[in-house]
Amino acid sequence: LGAVAALVRSVGSADFRLPHTGYSAPAGIPAGAVTAEDAELIAHLAAEGTVRMHLTLTPQKLPDVVSHNVIADLKGSENPEQVVVVSGHLDSWDLGTGAIDDGAGVAVAMEAAEILQKLHLRPKRTLRVIAWMDEETGGSGSQAYTKEHSSEFPHHVAAIESDAGAAHPLGFDIRMSNAAADLIRPVLNVLQSIGANAVENRPYPPGADIATMSENTVPALGILQDGRTYFDYHHSAADTLDKIVPEELRENAAAMAVMGYALASMKNPLPR
Ligand SMILES: [Zn+2]
Repeated sequence: LGAVAALVRSVGSADFRLPHTGYSAPAGIPAGAVTAEDAELIAHLAAEGTVRMHLTLTPQKLPDVVSHNVIADLKGSENPEQVVVVSGHLDSWDLGTGAIDDGAGVAVAMEAAEILQKLHLRPKRTLRVIAWMDEETGGSGSQAYTKEHSSEFPHHVAAIESDAGAAHPLGFDIRMSNAAADLIRPVLNVLQSIGANAVENRPYPPGADIATMSENTVPALGILQDGRTYFDYHHSAADTLDKIVPEELRENAAAMAVMGYALASMKNPLPR
């Protein structure tokens, strides 16, 4: 049962879609998610002896309906055709309210544009806020965006997504050329005062909704967050607004705003 608990735990993290875990539930086999806390309790009890569990799985899959990505542009002053995407995803699991996954990401992306407006900072390039629809059940929102905008991807200077929680930002996961990563580092120095200056260049896309852009060589960034409590709440009834620390959410908005503005205003677009 300890192994089952570990498996159930990995089902719970499937939303993360890290290629090195690559887990998705086989079609037709019922799969449930429990919090890391519960998985550890089950593993602990299993080590003591026989454990019987009663699982009540309430979700149901309803037919698809029409829904939408929500997109807003803060038009660039000099190169409006060049776009920097700041984003999070709009849908969530319906057990809680999806505050951490990923209401926080949408709030942070919207706030990045709001902060620039408040400071009267007009980026040279367009800052595009995207609240992606349907990250959780297959990514049809990002597929629809790709269908409509892939011809513009050469002018998509960078894409940022926040989909790893609402906790204190540590920096950015990035996927881009080394030459581009070198240009990111001075920007991170600005974020050193809030401890958000780490950078990890990854071999995989740092966000599910920006994965297609990343596969099409658009430099991609994900906010790297303190993930220690993320899986206590992820995809469970416990994912509600009371778990979010306002100060940490503000730090994430600052990180997104600084990075978004820098990418939208630096002299030349990041090299591919
Ligand atoms: Zn998510």
